[in-house]
Amino acid sequence: GSRAPRGSCSPGCSGSPSLRKPRYRVVLLGDPGVGKTSLVNLFAGVQERDLLDQHGGAAYERRLTVDGEETTLLVLDTWEPEQRGEESERRSRCLQIGNAYIIVYSVTDRDSFESASELRIQLRRARQAEDIPIILVGNKTDLVRCREVSEEEGQACAAVFDCKFIETSAALQHNVDELFEGVVRQIRLRQGGKKS
Ligand code: GDP
Repeated sequence: GSRAPRGSCSPGCSGSPSLRKPRYRVVLLGDPGVGKTSLVNLFAGVQERDLLDQHGGAAYERRLTVDGEETTLLVLDTWEPEQRGEESERRSRCLQIGNAYIIVYSVTDRDSFESASELRIQLRRARQAEDIPIILVGNKTDLVRCREVSEEEGQACAAVFDCKFIETSAALQHNVDELFEGVVRQIRLRQGGKKS
């Protein structure tokens, strides 16, 4: 879709001394067209997006309160399709820098579902020893009659690949807040047994 200029994966504004609250980098992965930019735009709102675009990256920052505690998420929407089978430096950087990952496919596109599994494998390879939160997202549930991947298949895939699963519709703004809250909870779960 019409998207922000794709910039570097590095947040560009990290380490701000004024931020004492926890701040986590969340990287969106998935095939082109599955709805990554739509989801992140709903999360961040247009104003935040404009602000961060000045730094030259498709990064979106927002504070959110989950279970009574405030967290800042920096969401990076800089994933690019593989070109001629070659792994680009940006792709490998994306796989390295996230504190958590959202792998998106479209329930109307089986190929994107296959890609999601492939991405999970790449991520596991890139971050072998680490237990990073990963959320598998089946987007575009509003397109009921075009569905190619059932919710059960999504759940089964998430179980095999040891990640969380949620279906969303960016078009209907369904489950988008729940998705990002889920990301925060998954991060906290791994940060020394805080309340999930
Ligand atoms: P990206 O390439 O993964 O960032 O995908 P985009 O966010 O640019 O979305 C690609 C296209 O799918 C755009 O035309 C969006 O409007 C559309 N789209 C995204 N999410 C949904 C959704 O949940 N439902 C429907 N019907 N269309 C969607």
